[in-house]
Amino acid sequence: MRIETIAIHAGNIITDSNRPVIQPIITSTTFEHHENSPIYTRASNPNRLALEKVLTQLEYGKDAAAFSSGNAAAMAVFQSLDPHSHIIAPDDMYHGIRKQLLEVFKGILEISFVDMANIDQLKSNIRDNTKLIWLETPSNPLLKISDIKSIAGVARENHIMLACDNTFATPVFQNPILLGADLVMHSTTKFLGGHSDILGGIIITKERNSFWERLRMIQHVGGAVPSPFDCYLLTRSIKTLPYRMKGHFENASKLAHFLSAHPSVEHVFYPGLKSHIGYSIASSQMKGFSGVLSVMVMGGAIDADRVVSKLKYFTNATSLGGIESLIERRAAVEGPDTLTPQNLLRISVGLENIEDLIEDFDQALS
Ligand SMILES: *Cc1c(COP(=O)(O)O)cnc(C)c1O
Repeated sequence: MRIETIAIHAGNIITDSNRPVIQPIITSTTFEHHENSPIYTRASNPNRLALEKVLTQLEYGKDAAAFSSGNAAAMAVFQSLDPHSHIIAPDDMYHGIRKQLLEVFKGILEISFVDMANIDQLKSNIRDNTKLIWLETPSNPLLKISDIKSIAGVARENHIMLACDNTFATPVFQNPILLGADLVMHSTTKFLGGHSDILGGIIITKERNSFWERLRMIQHVGGAVPSPFDCYLLTRSIKTLPYRMKGHFENASKLAHFLSAHPSVEHVFYPGLKSHIGYSIASSQMKGFSGVLSVMVMGGAIDADRVVSKLKYFTNATSLGGIESLIERRAAVEGPDTLTPQNLLRISVGLENIEDLIEDFDQALS
């Protein structure tokens, strides 16, 4: 099956004798004891299994475990490590997961943050107890690109697991397992949900090994699982993912080109621009450059805020990946310890008509 076919058929598991075309939502928390039946919804539920199945196939893995948020999914990976394991993470990454590493696992895990574009820096940070390299590419919010295949080589040589947060790229444009990663993580809240109305996360694994058994145990016993309704909505959203991503990519590319030629713009971060520092690596490992870009406008925080307030079709709100365009000044959201430039706006380009979006930016920047 190709991706559009997987997206529509892989998660549609029908066991109902009425033979519905679409899998019903099974809200029952408990199931009659019977051979092969689920036991209890925290441990397993037919809607969750369907979601896990479609994402396993979309990411070319062996299994997947769904969680109630992207953060809960990432947390389960860190919780599955032995105490005092060392993790190497990128210097630009989703701030909520960075905060987990710094605050929740303080004293429990050792952390180093490195520039993943610099393989020598990565290698020099490897310790005897390094157990995990965590990647995020493209990264949030600077759209930094790391070379998954090369880093997977370093990880393999040193018997270190490689996990990749693939939220920005989606399985439509990038498949880290095919490039050598052991685990893939998504915030399904973003493009996979696609309509800004579901919170969720997932981990997909290349192998069912003892680490995976432990992660499954944490999913079951920790209990940060999505509801059957959320799983149903996500499985429904994923059916249109390949087509939505074509639109997000096309619109984001056009907006990135428009903005990079605009005199009121200092810099555009979008891996699909030839001027982007990671362009050649992105081109070799991604089939498209997805729908998020960041832009530094001329001036400072006040000037950036003024642009946001003048836009009509871009809502000033956090999050990304929905059908509607969103914009936010990231430094304002990340707080005083942020490393993000004050005049940087992160834009999630929606599926509105691109001419409307470009005209809107043109008036807001003038
Ligand atoms: C949003 C996001 C997360 C966190 O996911 P939640 O569903 O909000 O918990 C993790 N990584 C990236 C890249 C994100 O954009």
